[in-house]
Amino acid sequence: MKNVKLALLGPERKRSVVDVKGVRIGEGFTVMAGPCSIESEEQLVKTAMAVKRAGATILRGGAYKPRTSPYAFQGMGLEGLKILEKAGKASGLPTVTEVIDPRDVVWVAEYADILQIGARNMQNFSLLREVGKSNKPVLLKRGMYSTFEEWINCAEYVLAEGNPNVILCERGIRTFETYTRNTLDLSMVPAARETTHLPIIVDPSHGTGKLSLIESMSLASVAAGADGLEIEVHCDPDSALSDKDQQLRPAQFEALMEKIRKLAAFMDGVNGGTP
Ligand code: PEP
Ligand code: MN
Repeated sequence: MKNVKLALLGPERKRSVVDVKGVRIGEGFTVMAGPCSIESEEQLVKTAMAVKRAGATILRGGAYKPRTSPYAFQGMGLEGLKILEKAGKASGLPTVTEVIDPRDVVWVAEYADILQIGARNMQNFSLLREVGKSNKPVLLKRGMYSTFEEWINCAEYVLAEGNPNVILCERGIRTFETYTRNTLDLSMVPAARETTHLPIIVDPSHGTGKLSLIESMSLASVAAGADGLEIEVHCDPDSALSDKDQQLRPAQFEALMEKIRKLAAFMDGVNGGTP
């Protein structure tokens, strides 16, 4: 890969582990879960408790939503960040939230434990430089029109600014297929593992946009060697202010987590215990 230095897997094949308040991403299997958008304190705290009970170890929730339409719900902003911090404390879960503007990075980092760069901003180089200067881990989603090499170069931007804690997230790309919201490219999991040392997780929620496909794509991600998943869960998806068709109910998430645990243990055996 041209001009990529810091993201490459070295000859010693040592993989990076990103430590977020004791949750070690890249070691074992990490599930990040929570609603697409933060909508109220009650909604987020209730969801946080439910996903924690089911075994998630990171709470997700968007306060700044990059929406296709300027008239769609744009997120609660600062108020949402405050709710996220509260829900994180109440549940004991570290948090991840998207930052969409370089000017917001410093104070989003005051409220959240992981800074998410969304698919639409993957190549926003000033935003990448800004999160690269932050001391918070960065979850870098793959752009929907981006090649693997472009994506890894974006990770390189963050690493080059001195932030070593980058987690990759495959979330599907645009193809001619319309049955699914995106085409979830699971081949990126082994591709990332054979070329970079960075942990890679999969987002089957945005990757498929369809409730009925999330379980199988989650399990396929485990089998493909992913370090974790980011899954949207909402206490009442029908009333969700964004992405209502792809958010699992807590009971569905709990059943999925049971299967993930079993398959992850089985895959450990298949791989002879090597991560
Ligand atoms: C999200 O995770 O909230 C999101 C908007 O995802 P993506 O950037 O992958 O579309
Ligand atoms: Mn969403």
